[in-house]
Amino acid sequence: MIPAKAYAVQNATTPLAPFTFERRKPGAHDVLIEILYCGVCHSDIHQVCNEWGGSKYPMVPGHEIVGRITEVGSGVTKFKVGDLAGIGCLVDSCRTCSNCEQGYEQYCETGSVGTYNSYELDKKTLTYGGYSDKIVADESFVLHVSDKLALERVAPLLCAGITTYSPLRQWKVGKGHRVAVLGLGGLGHMAVKFAAAMGAEVTVLSTSPSKEADAKKLGAHKFVVTKDEAAVASVKNYFDFIIDTVSAQHDLNLYLAMLRLDGTMILLGVPPETPQLQVFNLIGKRRRVAGSLIGGIKETQEMLDYCAENNIMSDVEVIPMSEINNAYERILKGDVHYRFVIDLKTL
Ligand code: NAP
Ligand code: ZN
Ligand code: ZN
Repeated sequence: MIPAKAYAVQNATTPLAPFTFERRKPGAHDVLIEILYCGVCHSDIHQVCNEWGGSKYPMVPGHEIVGRITEVGSGVTKFKVGDLAGIGCLVDSCRTCSNCEQGYEQYCETGSVGTYNSYELDKKTLTYGGYSDKIVADESFVLHVSDKLALERVAPLLCAGITTYSPLRQWKVGKGHRVAVLGLGGLGHMAVKFAAAMGAEVTVLSTSPSKEADAKKLGAHKFVVTKDEAAVASVKNYFDFIIDTVSAQHDLNLYLAMLRLDGTMILLGVPPETPQLQVFNLIGKRRRVAGSLIGGIKETQEMLDYCAENNIMSDVEVIPMSEINNAYERILKGDVHYRFVIDLKTL
């Protein structure tokens, strides 16, 4: 076993604090990665606080991991020592069900293995994430990272990036579409960058008037403050798609009314509460509500390559590990511009 350092929580109410544990020695198909940066996703907070239920402790969060390979197993073919590498939300899956075979490991029929707060395929070894100095994973779930982009700005692509890229590709969003991005946080700011790069007209729907200038810099064409009734009325029956990235309870019906005929609302945010839907709001314009979960390994690599080609990166605030509890407080207050990223050298 290999000794590892991390920050962990011991239950749903204690703060993150230093923690030591052991990673497995790399097997034939594994790589050992020295973690350089790890992004802080709102899903980390939901799971640390057990807001979705079923959280497993001790928990080392973190699924936006970028680092350098320091050891490879005898059967590894994709990587060599010294390569840059990334790990997102998944570290394994059954690999044989029809969804896995199509590259949709996130929808594995028997359940994929999460980077943390999950069990390995043996159903008993807890996985520990990226708020840590190193990680061992099967090379099939490790991504190649370009050295063209700033690594701290690449880390959030591994979750916030792929989670927004995947539905935009799935629904073939591009020129001629009007896309709304609801909530300008970690996911939201990546959705704006991608949708704009793909040629759509992009509107940010936000509760924070102070984010308007940033939204425009990120590539948005319009900005609507959702507490402003006149502004909301101006986008009634307007959008082809709404990408909903909101992490807290909100009234979906207000936003559904903004979709034109056959418009689709794509739910990405996972508030702990179940939303209520008004049926007339759907049938009146044949509107649809859909959802999307991160992305498979093949598509994550495609997204990273697309970002390297098009110079797309996350806007980040780099923090030392010791600042993590304060960063959580700031995320909960909406004070994030637009992703915190931990520098693991400070661990
Ligand atoms: P984040 O950085 O905290 O951003 C969420 C944004 O939602 C905030 O910046 C805020 O934007 C808006 N918001 C917050 N509270 C709100 C409220 N009460 N009403 C309306 N808007 C509110 O979070 P994130 O990391 O982007 O994650 C967003 C959600 O996606 C989380 O629930 C996370 O668990 C989920 N997620 C899902 C997937 C997936 O695969 N589907 C993957 C990753 C994350 P404004 O200030 O602009 O209003
Ligand atoms: Zn995430
Ligand atoms: Zn599977």
